[in-house]
Order: sequence, then C-alpha cells, then structure tokens
Amino acid sequence: MHLQDHWRDRARYTVFDSDHGDGSRFAALVEAWRLDPQRPAHLHVVALTDSLQPGFHRIPQPDHGVTLDLIAAPLDTALAELNAHPDFIYLHSVQGTTFVRPLARLTALGARLESHGLDDEQRAALAAQGFVFDGDGATFSTRKPRLPSTPEPERRALVLGAGVAGCAAAARLCARGWQVTLIERHPQVAMEASGNLAGIFMPLLSRDDNIPTRLTRAAYLYALRLWAQLGGIGRAFDGDMCGVLQLSRDAGHAAVSRAIASDGKLPPDFARWLEPPEAEALLGLPAPDGGWLFPQGGWARPGSVCEALLASCGDLLTRRFGAGEVSLERMGDEWLARGADGNAIGQAPTVVLASGAGARHMAQSADLPLQALRGQVTHLAPEHAPQLPLVLCREAYLTPSAHGVTCAGATYDLDADPQLRAASQQENVARVRGLVSDPQAAAGAPLAGRVGFRCVAPDRLPLVGRLPDFAAAGATERLRDVARHSGLYGLLGYASRGLIWAPLAAELLAAQLEGEPLPLEMALVDALDPARFVLRARRNSRHPVPNDSDIGP
Ligand SMILES: Cc1cc2nc3c(=O)[nH]c(=O)nc-3n(C[C@H](O)[C@H](O)[C@H](O)COP(=O)(O)OP(=O)(O)OC[C@H]3O[C@@H](n4cnc5c(N)ncnc54)[C@H](O)[C@@H]3O)c2cc1C
Repeated sequence: MHLQDHWRDRARYTVFDSDHGDGSRFAALVEAWRLDPQRPAHLHVVALTDSLQPGFHRIPQPDHGVTLDLIAAPLDTALAELNAHPDFIYLHSVQGTTFVRPLARLTALGARLESHGLDDEQRAALAAQGFVFDGDGATFSTRKPRLPSTPEPERRALVLGAGVAGCAAAARLCARGWQVTLIERHPQVAMEASGNLAGIFMPLLSRDDNIPTRLTRAAYLYALRLWAQLGGIGRAFDGDMCGVLQLSRDAGHAAVSRAIASDGKLPPDFARWLEPPEAEALLGLPAPDGGWLFPQGGWARPGSVCEALLASCGDLLTRRFGAGEVSLERMGDEWLARGADGNAIGQAPTVVLASGAGARHMAQSADLPLQALRGQVTHLAPEHAPQLPLVLCREAYLTPSAHGVTCAGATYDLDADPQLRAASQQENVARVRGLVSDPQAAAGAPLAGRVGFRCVAPDRLPLVGRLPDFAAAGATERLRDVARHSGLYGLLGYASRGLIWAPLAAELLAAQLEGEPLPLEMALVDALDPARFVLRARRNSRHPVPNDSDIGP
C-alpha cells in the first residue's frame, strides 16, 4: 500500500523512521505530502539520527504543516522516551528484538510497517506483538487497550502575560491555527522581567548530563533554530550571536571542565574548552583558569524577541494590552478574563498563564511554590565599561556594548524593592572587576540600570503544562493522576533563562494541547510538569533555592 493511500483523510499523520540517514527519505516524504491534494493537514516525522547531540531535537520546518523530530539515541532508548503514536514505521537494519514491545506499545492501530533487513526472529517477534505481514510490509492490529487519542482541540486561547513566555506561547499556538488573545496589564510587551536591554543565552554543562543540563541543551538548541526561522538574531530582533566565554571559577572548576571536555562528546560549535592562554588571547584579558566558549551563545533584547514572535502570529493574534490587573473566572466550559475595571476582555476554553512572578497573586496559581527574586542590572556607558568582543560571564555577566550600553548583572535579592539602589550597583561593579581582573573597572559609573523580578520555582526548572488543582489533589503518587484545573495551563518559573526556555516550553505546551508527538523525552516532560509540586508537597520534601546566577551552572 502506498503511504499516500494510507494517510488520506486524516488530520494528522505520524511517521517513525529508525534511520534518518542523509535526510533524503524525509525530503521525499515532504515532497509527496506537498503534491498530494488529499494530504493530511499535518505530517509529523520522528526519525533517529546519530549526527546530533544526545536527546530529542525539534527542527522547525518552512511549512507549518510539517514537523520533524530528530532523536539522537539508540532505538530502545528513543522508544522508551517517545510520546508519539506512529501511523507509518520504517525499520532499517535494526538490531535484536528488545525494541519490539515498546514499538508495539506506541504504534497506532492500523499502522503500516515497512522494513529492510529484518531477520526471521525479528519478524516473529513483531508478528507476536500484532504486526501482520503481507506482501510489502505489515499492518498493526492488537486487542490490547490503547490510550484514547486527544480530541481535536477548540483552537481558541487566552494567553495572560506578554513577556517572552506569553509571546512565544502565542507564536507557537498561532502557528497551529489557534486564535490567541494575548492579555497584558501594561500597554506594551516586555515591561516586567522581559524588559531588560540584554539577556544572555548559553547552554549548561555538567559531568553527569543531568536533567537540568539536558533540558537547557534542548531549550538552547531549539531557541537557536526557532530564532533562525524568525529571521535571525540581530536581524529579526536585537541581539548578537557573538559567543559567550564562561570563565572558570577556580582550579577545581577548571579540572571538572577539562574532564567534561576530554570526553570529546561536545561539538566545537556548541562548546569548546579553552585553556588559559587561548581564553586570554580571545579576550585580551587575564583568564587564569581558562573557560568554556559557547560560539553560538550571545545576547538578545527580550522585548524585541517578543515583538518578533508576535509578528509571526499574523491575524490570528488579538492584543488586549493595558488591561490592568487581570483576573480569571470560570464561565460554563470556558474561562473569562476580566480587566482591572471589571470588564470582560476575553473568553476561551483554554487559558495559558504566562504571567511570570504575577502568577503568585492569581487565585488559580497562588498555590504553586513560586518565588519572585529581585535582580538589578547595571548599565554602563562606554567610558566606564571594558570593551569586549563577546559576552563574558562567571558568577555575573558583562555584555559587549550595544547602542552605547554595556549590561552588567545581575544581583539576586529576596526583597521586593522596585527601585534602583546603589548597594546593588556596587555588587555588580565588584563582580565586573573580578571578571575583567581590573580593580578600577567601572569606577565612577553613575547609578543606572534596571530592576526586575524573576519567577523561580524551588527546583529552578520551568512549569510547563496543565496546572494542578491543589485543593482536589487527593493522595496520588503519579503525575498523570493529579487533579488538574480544566483548560488552565502554565508557562511559568523561567527564572534566569527565560530567553531559551520560552520557545521550547511554548512548543511543548502547544504540542500537548494538540495531542501531537512531544518535542522532548518523557522524563524531561515530567520534570517540567507543574503537578510535580503536588507530589513533592505530599512527600513533604523541602527544596531550598540554590544560590544560582543568571547565566552560570
Ligand atoms: C535582573 C535579571 C536578569 C536576567 N538575566 C537573564 C539573562 O541573562 N538571560 C535570560 O535568559 N534570562 C534572564 N533573566 C530572566 C528573564 O528575564 C525571565 O526568565 C523572563 O523574562 C521571564 O519571562 P516571562 O514572560 O515568564 O515573565 P515576564 O516578562 O515577567 O512577563 C509576565 C507578564 O505577565 C504580566 N502579568 C502578570 N500578572 C498579570 C495580571 N494579573 N494581569 C495582567 N498581566 C499580568 C506582567 O505584566 C508581565 O508583562 C533575568 C531576569 C532578571 C530579573
């Protein structure tokens, strides 16, 4: 049976390919999809590759109807972490039979299998799991219960908050045909945490490639790809992919970094360890313990990223800005948003809370363990700032000068003072002096900068997904059994990495709302689930906020 005959009359068609190879099969598939007037609205290809860093990689496509997920993992690992139900499977020269059960667990009823190089044992194992072989492949059938597929959503949402989280949510939902009403208390985008002149973007490294490292890598790489699709950093929005040099704190830190580098797993365009002479040559300043160079890292102005994201939404976006303090109430099967004056400003079955630190004051999210962490960035004029070819960081960061301003930051404070203060500026200046090994750096700089409030969860990871109903939570020990608010989702807790969390978190949430294959491993999806705090509260665990920096590990 031709694939085109199989995908006819379906809204979505998912293909799993055990070997992406040089991408020619994917290209041919997309071409066939483009040419077929009876194509499914959405073609989703999930393919294994060995040419990328470990994990799932969602690769934005020029056509909104096509999604490509490349997975750099062995087949068994990929299947264990996959949340997709393929309608068509290509198997090429696969080894052993351990993949068969996990594959059958995921496969959609009636799916077609095409294979190359299967041995008798593999065919028998597949047949035992429900793959019925015929002339040119196999069809999957089973009596085992399947999870019901997500019903087609009603594609209307209110997104509350026009910082990077909300603007990315609007963009990724509109890309799927959703009508989005973006609601904001201020008259413009990015007037709170996302209002800094420059945010740094870079990945995180660790010896054990732990969950935060895997998540930030996925987020960083997806952000770079999505920004390129928007038109590019420095073109579609303000910023520069000038590179980030993260200096080592001390000799011990350098030793750990050398051990990571000696594994030889990091592609040089992602991260390169520089010994002191190389780091000093690049920087023109002392770097006694060397550092990591992230060549594709840099800085961007979050507000301009917000505008570029919203520009991609077209007519599907309605802006309701200047609404004052907005509240939500349930109205039948929908949510109603009211502005500060009590007037209704929007209604939809789905609400995305992207309200940053403001979520702590909304009835529906007040139980989430979110904290507002004050941060002050210092703005230095050229005569007060060391001139750098790239972003320099360690426990603080210093950007190259842009539009006549160098940004140095940022403090971490527990108080709620919105005013600039001299003590915070002194902290920033002291860190700058340490960074550039110059005790006179920034001497005489006038008090200038900006104060913002990061929204931080106890584990410092974002909250992405349907929000739990703490009052109705019950005594479950499993995320999937936690009671949730109907139609209420969160994109919160972006802490110090909002620039890179925003695109991937929005993409993940949009995929969840659509019932699409997810762009992340299930273990990572669970690590972001807002309901994790219901389980943790029950276990009565305590998670102090570690002393982290805006950019450091
Ligand atoms: C000093 C400092 C330095 C930072 N440095 C970096 C960095 O280098 N790199 C990086 O990636 N990140 C950095 N961050 C973090 C980054 O700024 C945040 O993670 C990001 O901006 C969060 O975006 P957001 O959309 O979640 O929140 P916000 O930008 O705060 O947006 C939330 C929006 O919701 C609106 N809102 C909230 N409640 C309501 C309500 N009830 N009614 C109506 N509107 C409401 C708010 O007005 C606001 O506009 C830094 C943050 C600070 C404070």
